[in-house]
Amino acid sequence: MAKIGIFGGTFNPIHNGHLIVGRDVRRGFSLDIVCLIPAAVPPHKESRDVAKAEYRMEMTRLAVEGDPDFSVSDVELKRSGPSYTIDTIGHFESFLPNDSELFFIVGMDAFLDIETWKSYKDLFQEVPFIVMSRPGSASCGDGRKWKLPCEMISSRVSAKYRFDKEKNAFFHPEKKPVYLFDVTPVDISSTMIRKRIGKGQDIDGLVPDKVKEYIKQKGLYV
Ligand code: ATP
Ligand code: MG
Repeated sequence: MAKIGIFGGTFNPIHNGHLIVGRDVRRGFSLDIVCLIPAAVPPHKESRDVAKAEYRMEMTRLAVEGDPDFSVSDVELKRSGPSYTIDTIGHFESFLPNDSELFFIVGMDAFLDIETWKSYKDLFQEVPFIVMSRPGSASCGDGRKWKLPCEMISSRVSAKYRFDKEKNAFFHPEKKPVYLFDVTPVDISSTMIRKRIGKGQDIDGLVPDKVKEYIKQKGLYV
């Protein structure tokens, strides 16, 4: 039985944070592979700030070339129009063998924003979530570490989700579980990288070297 993690993002650009936390999740959940899926961005939003899809795709490929932890899928870029996670999950379900298990991997910041996603409630019907901690995003302080996701899930998804402290996950009588997972805290974001490049600062150690060279070669984010 194959266990596959679906890890979507704008990847504008992909950075070492994505790779470190993706690897943490693969190990923690014994996944066979984590599949990175760069998102389509409406053409009118491509700009100095959002690199063309083909560039984001190529950077993602370069970042994980020869790395057995990851694969890359262009399914969202090939589809016409905007990409919705619910359709991507459906795509994977349509061709994977029946005994494969899919997991949807998402950072805490993106998870807390999920009510803005199309058909987000259906997602909880389809696939278990793995929600990764992220520095600066909700999961610290106040003794109730997971207060925000708790509130979000019960008010926006279903009040029938119950938190299991031992498993650090929400379980529901009909829907899929939501696992909260502490990953290595990595204070890197694509925004930070774009800003540094814009200011002429180096991005050493923030992205794989091949990605750094590609950004330079294509003159991205300057
Ligand atoms: P931006 O600053 O442009 O939003 P980003 O660094 O958040 O970029 P995304 O492509 O938006 O990168 O993120 C894709 C997914 O990876 C999201 O689910 C996000 O929460 C998660 N993610 C990104 N960086 C980290 C990190 N350092 N730790 C944990 N999760 C992360
Ligand atoms: Mg982001």
